[in-house]
Amino acid sequence: MKVGLLFGGRSGEHEVSINSARAIAKAISTGENRNKYELLPFYIQKDGRWLAGQASHKVLESGVPILTTADSVASQSHLGGWEDEEMKNSSQLDNFHDAKMLDCIPASLPQVASVDVWFPILHGPNGEDGTVQGLLKLMQVPFVGSGVLGSALGMDKIAMKMAFAQAGLPQVKYVAVNRSQIWSNPCVFPKLCDRIEETVGYPCFVKPANLGSSVGISKVRSRSELETALDNAASYDRRIIVEAGVVARELECAVLGNDEPKASVVGEITYQSDFYDYETKYSAGMADIIIPAAIPEAVAAQIQQMSLEAFAAVDAAGLARVDFFYTESGEVLINEINTIPGFTATSMYPMMWEKSGIPFPELVDRLIQLALERNS
Ligand code: ATP
Ligand code: MG
Ligand code: MG
Ligand code: MG
Repeated sequence: MKVGLLFGGRSGEHEVSINSARAIAKAISTGENRNKYELLPFYIQKDGRWLAGQASHKVLESGVPILTTADSVASQSHLGGWEDEEMKNSSQLDNFHDAKMLDCIPASLPQVASVDVWFPILHGPNGEDGTVQGLLKLMQVPFVGSGVLGSALGMDKIAMKMAFAQAGLPQVKYVAVNRSQIWSNPCVFPKLCDRIEETVGYPCFVKPANLGSSVGISKVRSRSELETALDNAASYDRRIIVEAGVVARELECAVLGNDEPKASVVGEITYQSDFYDYETKYSAGMADIIIPAAIPEAVAAQIQQMSLEAFAAVDAAGLARVDFFYTESGEVLINEINTIPGFTATSMYPMMWEKSGIPFPELVDRLIQLALERNS
């Protein structure tokens, strides 16, 4: 059985996806999985081009993206993305593969057509949001994870919150914003800020609705910070959400399955920084993971139940990681669902399953089998 591992992608979480894919590729090519599956990696470059064969294997081996022409242009002109900042650092540029040195032939139709089951491990827009899932569905080949609806609802924090509210899941107060209210009409903007202050107050969190890894998220404490944060979030997405900030412990739960999904033990993340931002997520030693979380059994049971309800509310399939806030008063609020959570060997999703009795290679096997089962 040929497993098409789709990774990289046209999103701010490109590098995260490469790391997830490396861990999954290793799990597919070793142990018992090796006798069952053949790995066919497909690397999607930052400009959206699909590479297969040698080039994609190279990225998996090295963990380093293959630079595109678009990347070099982006590094010179300011496009407002966090990647551009990184690219400006020329020493970092040296760490990228030179596309010319590699056999960067675009993936061919026969290569794509030979895949028996797809494993998209793309985080963020253009991969976790239903777009790639729509393509795979059209190709009529089974794939791991949520379909179009589950992916789209899981990606867009405004639509997600509507689905959660409908399912009766408790969550923070929020205001949904459209970019046009920020950029197009100077008369609307102060009124918008007034409404945000009245509805959610300070501190609040300003987020692009469709992203992940905390990219574009700001914690704000004043009117001027709010204005800057809205402008920044609008550079990432048309849709923006502003949420009331809560003081809470951060708990997560992993879900696995299709129509009868199971919830893992609950995990906790602790850190010293202001919030769980990009740097804290991906710099070694900045965050600590405790699995299982030291919480009362009843709270853990409540979180597992809410995770399954959230999974059903957005019509997720295969896998999802559900994030929660546990306040000092003992309240459990749902924060979000991630339909393609980080998947390195030290990511929360596989670690929570590991602690629940499913080792990493078996988890990968189960996900592939769930994809096949859903299709049959
Ligand atoms: P992920 O990488 O999990 O997909 P994300 O980009 O979707 O993350 P969120 O999980 O919504 O972003 O928020 C990132 C972090 O910001 C949270 O883990 C938490 O530390 C902080 N945060 C977000 N919203 C709130 C809130 N309403 N109150 C308090 N802290 C918050
Ligand atoms: Mg998320
Ligand atoms: Mg995410
Ligand atoms: Mg999160």
